[in-house]
Amino acid sequence: MDFACPKCKGELILDTNTKKCNNGHSYDRAKAGYYNLLLGVKGGTHGDNAEMVEARRAFLSRGFYEPLADRLSALVTELTPVVGCVLDAGCGEGYYTDKVEHSLRARDGDSNVLAFDISRDAVKYAAKRNRNLSLAVATSYDMPLSDGSVDTVFNAFSPLAIPEVSRVLKLSGRFVMVYPGREHLFGLKSVIYKTPYKNEPEEVGLDGFKLLSHETLSYTVKLNTEGDIRALFMMTPYAYRTSREDKERVLSLSEVTTEVEFVIDVYEKI
Ligand SMILES: [Zn+2]
Repeated sequence: MDFACPKCKGELILDTNTKKCNNGHSYDRAKAGYYNLLLGVKGGTHGDNAEMVEARRAFLSRGFYEPLADRLSALVTELTPVVGCVLDAGCGEGYYTDKVEHSLRARDGDSNVLAFDISRDAVKYAAKRNRNLSLAVATSYDMPLSDGSVDTVFNAFSPLAIPEVSRVLKLSGRFVMVYPGREHLFGLKSVIYKTPYKNEPEEVGLDGFKLLSHETLSYTVKLNTEGDIRALFMMTPYAYRTSREDKERVLSLSEVTTEVEFVIDVYEKI
C-alpha cells in the first residue's frame, strides 16, 4: 500500500523519481525524500514553521516524551495485523512515526508505514530521521489515500478530520488517537499565567467508530537547562499567546517542573 493520487485518489505508480496515476497526474520526489501531495498550494509555509519544528525536535530528542512513544508504538504494533499498512496522519518531524516503524519492523519487517504532515519543514526532518517511512506533504482534511486502504491510523496531537480517518481505514481498522489530558503541562502554564486553567476534558466517542480502550499516561518532567525550558515553551501554542515580558520571565527560569498527561483512545471502524 502506498499513497494515492490526491486529485483522483487513483493508485500511484513509481517511475524513477516520479509517482504517476492512470489519469496522468504526476508528482516529483523532493530531494529530501518525500512527495508533495498537497493540492493547489504553491510554496509558502503551512502548518508549523521551522522554529516550532526545531523546538519540538530538540525537546523530543531529550527523551521527555519517550514513555508515550514507547506505549504508542507497542499499541500500534499490537493492533496492526502482520504485514499491515499503518498511517501517521499529521506526523510532524516523525518522532513517534520512527518509533512505531521500528517496533513494527522488529515484529515482522513487512508492514509499511506511511506518514504525512502539512508542514514541509517537519516532513523534511522525518525523512532524515527514518529512510523506511513513505512520506508526503499533505493535509489531514483530504488525505492522499484510497478508500479502505489502511489497517491502522494513528494521530498524536495533530488536527484532523474524523470522516477522512474513517474513509481511508479498512472495515474493522483501528484508529489510535493521542491528545493532551487535563493536567498536561499544568506546571508550565502555572509559571506563565496568573490563573492557569486545566485542559477541558475531551468527549470520548466518534461517529462510525467503536471505542475499544481509553487510557491515560501521566508523569512529571523536570527541566533544568535553559535549552530544555526554551524548547518546551517554543513548541507549545503559549509561545505565540504570551506577552514578551512573560515570555522573557519564563525563559529566564532555571527550573520548571511540570506534569505531562496524555490520553490514548483506541477505536475500531464499524
Ligand atoms: Zn490522479
